[in-house]
Amino acid sequence: MSQKEHVYIGLGSNLGQSTDLLNSAVDAIGNLADTRVLKKSSLYISAPMGPQDQPDFINSVCLIETALSPHPLLAQLQQIENSYGRERKGKRWGPRTLDLDVLLYGNQEVNTDDLTIPHYGMAEREFVLVPLFEIAPNMIMPDGNPLSQWVAKCSLEGLKRIRASNQQ
Ligand code: AMP
Repeated sequence: MSQKEHVYIGLGSNLGQSTDLLNSAVDAIGNLADTRVLKKSSLYISAPMGPQDQPDFINSVCLIETALSPHPLLAQLQQIENSYGRERKGKRWGPRTLDLDVLLYGNQEVNTDDLTIPHYGMAEREFVLVPLFEIAPNMIMPDGNPLSQWVAKCSLEGLKRIRASNQQ
């Protein structure tokens, strides 16, 4: 079996029963082959990026340990997205039942047509940085700066913690 890596995954949903969905999605991720969930953040509510005529998002971040390499992991995550009925309506930043992003995969960088790791949007997204900080407060980011410094730059205006990580 290949070596296991620590991987951070961002979860988001703004359609359907989003809080239940995010909790089930973390369970589904933990059931992938050679994978277990090590930590999960609280759930946060965030104002949508881009088009504002859509519901607020529920977001969280989890840390997993997995032997799946980046592309097979992406394929498995997309299967989970599809199994929750994710519809792609062709609208950038439009509503979705479940969105799963690979934020960080160990120290690896991936730059292919279908996969970019570290995730390209991390730096600007407080709904990613704040839950990530909750479960990895001492993290040093790929640019060599502490995550705490990135979080300090967030306005936090559109973000609210709605449920602690130890509550179901
Ligand atoms: P979106 O629906 O906006 O989240 O974009 C989904 C697309 O982003 C997928 O088709 C992936 O191939 C691509 N993608 C690129 N990098 C990543 C990543 N790190 N995690 C998840 N999806 C990614």
